[in-house]
Amino acid sequence: MIIVVSGPGGVGKGTVVARLLELDPMLWLSRSWTTRQRRLGEPADAYTFVDRATFEREITAGGFLEYAEFLDNLYGTPVPVADPHRDVLLEIDVQGAAQVQQDHPEALLVFLEAPSRAEQHQRLTGRGDPPEVAARRLAKADAEADAGRHLGAHLVVNDQLDQAVAEVAAIIVAARASSA
Ligand code: 5GP
Repeated sequence: MIIVVSGPGGVGKGTVVARLLELDPMLWLSRSWTTRQRRLGEPADAYTFVDRATFEREITAGGFLEYAEFLDNLYGTPVPVADPHRDVLLEIDVQGAAQVQQDHPEALLVFLEAPSRAEQHQRLTGRGDPPEVAARRLAKADAEADAGRHLGAHLVVNDQLDQAVAEVAAIIVAARASSA
């Protein structure tokens, strides 16, 4: 099964996904490619960091399950190697989630929402981006929150982390049961 966790920037997707991976050994996280520069202090394996030409060659070669341009950089999910015993988890933006939904209608989509705009904005400005990038991310996040509500995904509010993780875990369990 393909499981997509999406949501606007600053909603805590990364934290929720990290917790799900700890809890559920049947999940594996797909590592995305990006043309974005690695941030200061960002782990080297957070993404496969490549230049634009390399990314574009991979698009032509059909190497991506989905890809999207997000604030001038490309991000893409490599076509996953099928594993009958494990489910692949994608942490991607709203455009990517819509592409996966179109190409793989059986995929499970979860869209995280922020409890408050103020908290989301605080998270977005506190991650070490230059101020102009942070400002663009804020504007983008508001548009993404609107787009995500129209995806038809399971909506989960990331207010209390434990509760949000439990909700997503329950959605995954239910989807596995109904696809079995
Ligand atoms: P960031 O630059 O903050 O790491 O990521 C920016 C946005 O791109 C986030 O919403 C993140 O979830 C999304 N993203 C990360 N990897 C992918 C991917 O492979 N495909 C798509 N469509 N979005 C991605």
